[in-house]
Amino acid sequence: MQISRLLLFLQIFIILMKVNNLNFFIMPRKKGLSVAKPSARKITPPQLLKGMKDILPEEQKYWDFIKEKAKKIAETYGFEYIDTPILESTSLFIRSVGKNTDIVEKEMFSFVDQGGDNICARPEMTASIVRAYNEHGMINRPQPVKLYSIGPVFRHNKPQAGRYRQFNQWSFEVIGDNSPVIDAELISLQYHLFKDIGLDSSLHINSVGCPVCRPQYSLQLQEYYRTRKKNLCDNCKRRFSKNPIRLLDCKEKACGEMVADAPQMVDCLCEDCRAHFVKVLEHLDAAEIPYTLDPKIVRGLDYYVRTAFEFFPISNAQEKIESQSAISGGGRYDGLVQLLGGREEIGACGFAGGLERIILAMKENNVQIPETATADVFLAQLGESARKKSLKLLEDLRTAGLKVRANLSKSSLSNQLGTAAKMGVKFTLIYGQKEVIDNTILMRDMSSSSQEIVDIKKIVSEINKRMARLNKDNV
Ligand code: AMP
Repeated sequence: MQISRLLLFLQIFIILMKVNNLNFFIMPRKKGLSVAKPSARKITPPQLLKGMKDILPEEQKYWDFIKEKAKKIAETYGFEYIDTPILESTSLFIRSVGKNTDIVEKEMFSFVDQGGDNICARPEMTASIVRAYNEHGMINRPQPVKLYSIGPVFRHNKPQAGRYRQFNQWSFEVIGDNSPVIDAELISLQYHLFKDIGLDSSLHINSVGCPVCRPQYSLQLQEYYRTRKKNLCDNCKRRFSKNPIRLLDCKEKACGEMVADAPQMVDCLCEDCRAHFVKVLEHLDAAEIPYTLDPKIVRGLDYYVRTAFEFFPISNAQEKIESQSAISGGGRYDGLVQLLGGREEIGACGFAGGLERIILAMKENNVQIPETATADVFLAQLGESARKKSLKLLEDLRTAGLKVRANLSKSSLSNQLGTAAKMGVKFTLIYGQKEVIDNTILMRDMSSSSQEIVDIKKIVSEINKRMARLNKDNV
């Protein structure tokens, strides 16, 4: 009786062990190996983080295209490229962007690192570029210093169409000059960069005053909103006392309706700010850049003074529709250099464009990217001896300046020829056993489908000659 009970317990124990996959107690089937049983539970594979985006190969042509256009216009306007790190000290943004802004209060990816330092992934690039300007003594260079950068920034906000937690910006900054023509020059650069990539854009502009005139305006705003406070959204209720100017750019419908009758900053500007704003507008008129005066453009960051602007894409549909989402925004930030440790107050101005949104607008407007041929020549090989010699031949063709492709792991000729045809190459080289023995190679002109045998030693110069002829005919 006791033995049968014991056996029953043993059986139950073994079943439980198996169910829980605890097979360390069970003898491995092969000597020296414990065989791990696949878990019955479904394992969720790692997934993309919320608000992040993979940029797949087929998307890259947009990125290459807009970055190339940005580089070209930057050179014309005399900007130099700078890279700053993605990680910065959190205090940099608390100081510059401001502790009562959405970015600093809610959106920073910040953490304490292994050394106990407070670190964050940059939520924007202007503060980093100004930090670099100060740290590298760029004040000693000829002023103004014109810098631009392209890279990822991070904001932990609520993801939706065109709003990500990691996104890319181009950031253009002019540091060391307070004249209004600089504001207009930056605006002109952004306006024409959009034109260069095939986007129609609409510029909205405002002045947010300066520490002399803005406090007075903030009081006027609070006065206006005091009786209306109960109808504001929760965010705006907080902004009312902390950052009243931000009440103007709330996207909530009820708050937006109240903006129409609110006092406007342009009516409260001090003498200097007014003169500056008028000059910026005069420069824009002279440069024939259309704009809309928009009191709602206040920008969400503390460092802005005077000029503030945003660009919106215009749909190319018959009745031109302006989108709600800004594709670029910027303004003047004269006090920032000093705020971040610079010796003196220095004029500065800049803007940042959101590349994901720009590409989205390009797609919505069917902007066509000019196709660039991926390759001129495809090298198809057949048989082991040809494959062995192909790597060297590939390099010879590449170092001669030809765009060349191959698929060395494939052995089927029809498969390789199919790839060559899809790529739209001008010439396909066919290299087989016989050609290796004869020291030749078969050259197929893809447009006429004619083939000829060429001495292997002459193939690089032969292809080069023919490519040069083709390029000349295409001019
Ligand atoms: P901001 O300085 O916040 O106005 O950002 C400059 C530009 O970056 C905006 O005009 C947008 O085009 C883009 N941008 C801002 N936030 C996001 C986001 N969360 N996702 C994608 N693009 C963004």
